[in-house]
Amino acid sequence: MKKTSSYVAALAAVVVIILGIWQGSIYLEGKKPVVTVPDNITHVGPETIFSVRFSDEGRGLRQVLAFVDQGGKRQPLGGMDFSVPGEMKKTMRLTLDQAGLDLSEGPATLILTAVDHSLRKNSSTVTIPVTIDRTPPRISTMTSAHYINPGGSCLVVYRLSEPAEKTGVLVNTTFFPGYPFDSEESRPRFAVLFAIPVDARDDNMKIGITACDRAGNESFATFSHHVRKAAFRDRTLPLSDRFLEATMPEFQTVIPALRDVSPLEAFIYVNEELRRENTRQIEAICSRSEPRKLWDGRFLRMSNAATMAGFGDRRTYTYEGSQVTGSLHDGVDLASTVNAVIEASNRGIVAYAEYLGIYGNTVIIDHGLGLFSFYAHLSSVDTEKGALVEKGEPLGRSGMTGLAGGDHLHFGIFLGKQFVNPVEWWDPGWIRDNILGKADLP
Ligand SMILES: [Zn+2]
Repeated sequence: MKKTSSYVAALAAVVVIILGIWQGSIYLEGKKPVVTVPDNITHVGPETIFSVRFSDEGRGLRQVLAFVDQGGKRQPLGGMDFSVPGEMKKTMRLTLDQAGLDLSEGPATLILTAVDHSLRKNSSTVTIPVTIDRTPPRISTMTSAHYINPGGSCLVVYRLSEPAEKTGVLVNTTFFPGYPFDSEESRPRFAVLFAIPVDARDDNMKIGITACDRAGNESFATFSHHVRKAAFRDRTLPLSDRFLEATMPEFQTVIPALRDVSPLEAFIYVNEELRRENTRQIEAICSRSEPRKLWDGRFLRMSNAATMAGFGDRRTYTYEGSQVTGSLHDGVDLASTVNAVIEASNRGIVAYAEYLGIYGNTVIIDHGLGLFSFYAHLSSVDTEKGALVEKGEPLGRSGMTGLAGGDHLHFGIFLGKQFVNPVEWWDPGWIRDNILGKADLP
């Protein structure tokens, strides 16, 4: 009997010890919590939001704390206590935009600490050196006499008091990026080629320079400018059955949905839907540009060619006397002989050399700083994407592919996110007064 009871007692003691070790291993676990800051933070402004992730793989988080230290003075940014174990991860979003914080511009340290629920109170601390910056960049415009034609181009050059994360010109809501030059200086210079819409007037345009620094401080500055007056032509173009029957089969081959509709319905679809889709494609093709000027001097106009239609023409198409659709002509139509050699208007890199819907076989050349030239309706293309072409180098031959009634070159200049008037870029006087005479472009 006695032997049995002592045996049970011993067994119970072993169980208690095993349970104790097991429990103790939980309560005394030695895994440290982890602190991670997902963003690479170097500069902090009043509105900078940074996320800190705290996690623990053992008993969970007991406490998380965030401080900012400047010159030995430590001020709390945020913190949380978790009285019950089991909080395995927590993300805190922190800003310096808090009442009562006493911070000055300059170096500081973010201190982020997590403590776990182990009896050992394992803790981890991460320190991040940052610069506190509450001053938006100062913008100094270095060019003057910004006279801009509706549908035309303009150059502005400016200096910022500090490096910028994002800077450029805003024309209402359209952003044109700034390209830096001599950026090794502490106060970098930027050049922006920008454009205004064909319906621009002085009273419907808000034009200015925007700059956002590494800490998120933003500034906007207008600069002296004047929008000139311009009138564009209204043209009524009657659609003949002959024209529709000659041009629509090309699109009915490419777009199956157009096979069962009348040539007129196909034309309306092509002029509206396909045109919109092609515009989006062009914007995508021209969204990346070389950060330096590849071109020099005036742009070449197709030699010995007559102008058949101008930039900015508002076209109304009629059929049997009624209006059916309309468009805005975004280039200049030039015609000489059938299958004439088409030359690069200036030096650049071929960004596109393929079929492009209403524009037919098309070549687009990137001239750098957001400026592109555009050659449409070609019968043949003799260049390829990525090729560096010199001014005057043959690109292909004129034709009537796409939406074209006869053999001609549709020539365009695209800047930023829109087509602009090519006439300016053909004019050496305009280029001297408005672009090259104003600054040494990067
Ligand atoms: Zn055209």
